Amino acid sequence: MLALNLPRGRVRVLCLGAHSDDIEIGCGGLILSLINRAAAVDVRWVVFSGRANREREARRSAAKFLKGAARARVDVRQFRDGFFPYDSDIKEVFERLKREIDPDLVLTHYRNDRHQDHRVLSDLAWNTFRDHLVLEYEIPKFDGDLGTPNFFVPLTRATCARKVKYLLTAFGTQRDKHWFSEERFMGLMRLRGMECRAAGGYAEAFYARKVVLGL
Ligand SMILES: [Zn+2]
Repeated sequence: MLALNLPRGRVRVLCLGAHSDDIEIGCGGLILSLINRAAAVDVRWVVFSGRANREREARRSAAKFLKGAARARVDVRQFRDGFFPYDSDIKEVFERLKREIDPDLVLTHYRNDRHQDHRVLSDLAWNTFRDHLVLEYEIPKFDGDLGTPNFFVPLTRATCARKVKYLLTAFGTQRDKHWFSEERFMGLMRLRGMECRAAGGYAEAFYARKVVLGL
């Protein structure tokens, strides 16, 4: 299969997550792998809802995942969990991001995610970044909204294990949730690895709505 390869030089990435652990769950493996490459990686990491403990966890986790990045800026906002569709100030955050950065890659939530906060960020990412590669990551949940992603990032087992270790150690407030487990995280990445015939057996999967073939 022909692979889409990122440029060899500096890569600018914008990560958007509604809640404190979304970015890590959805694309933590991609971030770890990308930073592991020789090329410099600039990351802007924005969590929209993280108050008190959740902000501390988000910052601690982002620091682990972004270790080695050439530049990293982490923003944790305090929008009310569950109420994103009713808060127009979120649109203002995107307007500012548009003026401040021109990313090579935008990582955001899946458009058909059943969590309303996730959908808001997905829609606003597409509204705002219209000349960019946008990949939508998946967050498994009670609602059962996993679909059929069409874009895969193969990962080694070691990278997946590192991602899960960081998740389990950084997010103490989530540890007693029935879905926050090593098996659950590894299981989905193993399944996605099978779907893309990943050499290392594992992958994260995304939805790529528009990809332009440069000839
Ligand atoms: Zn979330």
